[in-house]
Amino acid sequence: MADEKVLLDYEAARGMEKEQAAFYYRGAAEEVAEGVIFTPRQGNSTAFVCEGSIFMVDTSPQWYVQGTIEGIRTNHSKAPVDSIVYTHGHIDHVTGAEAFIEEAAAQGNKRPRIIGHEDVSKRFERYRQTHPWQNFINQVQFNLPEGIDAFSTVPWIDPDTVYTKELFVDVGKERFELYHSRGETDDETWVWCPGRRVLCTGDTFVWATPNGGNPYKVQRYAMEWSVALEQMAARKPLHLLPGHGPAMSGEERIQDALLSTAGFLRSIHDQVVTLMNEGKWLEDIIREMEMPSSDKPWLRPIYDHPEFIARNVYRLYGGWYEGDPANILPAHSEDIAAMLVSAAGSEPILDRARKLQNDGELQLACHLVDFVRKGEPDNVDAWKLWRDLFAARAAQEESLMARGAFHFAVSQAEKRLEELA
Ligand SMILES: [Zn+2]
Repeated sequence: MADEKVLLDYEAARGMEKEQAAFYYRGAAEEVAEGVIFTPRQGNSTAFVCEGSIFMVDTSPQWYVQGTIEGIRTNHSKAPVDSIVYTHGHIDHVTGAEAFIEEAAAQGNKRPRIIGHEDVSKRFERYRQTHPWQNFINQVQFNLPEGIDAFSTVPWIDPDTVYTKELFVDVGKERFELYHSRGETDDETWVWCPGRRVLCTGDTFVWATPNGGNPYKVQRYAMEWSVALEQMAARKPLHLLPGHGPAMSGEERIQDALLSTAGFLRSIHDQVVTLMNEGKWLEDIIREMEMPSSDKPWLRPIYDHPEFIARNVYRLYGGWYEGDPANILPAHSEDIAAMLVSAAGSEPILDRARKLQNDGELQLACHLVDFVRKGEPDNVDAWKLWRDLFAARAAQEESLMARGAFHFAVSQAEKRLEELA
């Protein structure tokens, strides 16, 4: 898939230092507790060594799995892999499964059992059905170069062992408790190993504002997510192995991490629902609500954005209509813009946009210029201003997902300017 530089930029954008990110890609597996081999990668994975068998939680992505396997084999254990659990069906967590299956075959071991929630296969089916769209939307979200097209090239291996609510699995003398909850996805599993007091959260914990709002992707479930985090905390883990970022150890710190994240999601959820019940439309809800504090090191809005989570809660309970009757059966925004520009003239609109730009009101300036670049698609000044505004916003914006849209606007403007040159 992507070359290392792109992926390092991606992790750096998630808030990781370049050097730390590079270390992750070289893939040193670390033993966080006896027989618990954690490989921090883009898509972490964990090998539990249980008396001559390995129980894997996630596989790391296809483009890094060879390093993950080598790290385990060289420094830690040569035991066959008995089972692989998918914490959810995202590309960075499951697409290394094929390499584990091939390794088992090459060594004459039985094929590892692949365990996942019953909805994982439905997700894979959706990806197969929409892979050009998935390639496109990930290109925008992560500001990737064109042509990476990971969704159409990676192997999607369906689970052969599925469950609905919970599943207990014994490997050697070790018991693993698998629990389903909806959260970032609808097919999630979190894993609790009571014997070693180790928790594998999957992407319910990723060292960033929870990915509960993602503007590019399907529904997330903030409230169920919050409840799952509280259930995890109730087990009193000594080690928390997240879906992304470093392992965390220490009971108190883990309680704080899980419960503050649960409270963060619950606060957004409850405020949106309260305001919906008061008959408020989405944009008024966003303006009126008070975003919970994100000053914990694991809640920084470097990936998703709290406002996106609020929008996602609204979408879960509401429809797409945002309250403007002109928009229930609307004209195309380009036609509306053309009317406005012909009535008001493009220059006064651009002038006001430039004034807003000078005053640092970039958000409003973007909306005004948008009328001109749509209403007069050949207006070079409008495209240049539009490009500069979004470049400036990308430079200021902390959230990778918001930045993705801004970078995409810049590249759209550059393409259009080339056509007009
Ligand atoms: Zn992930």
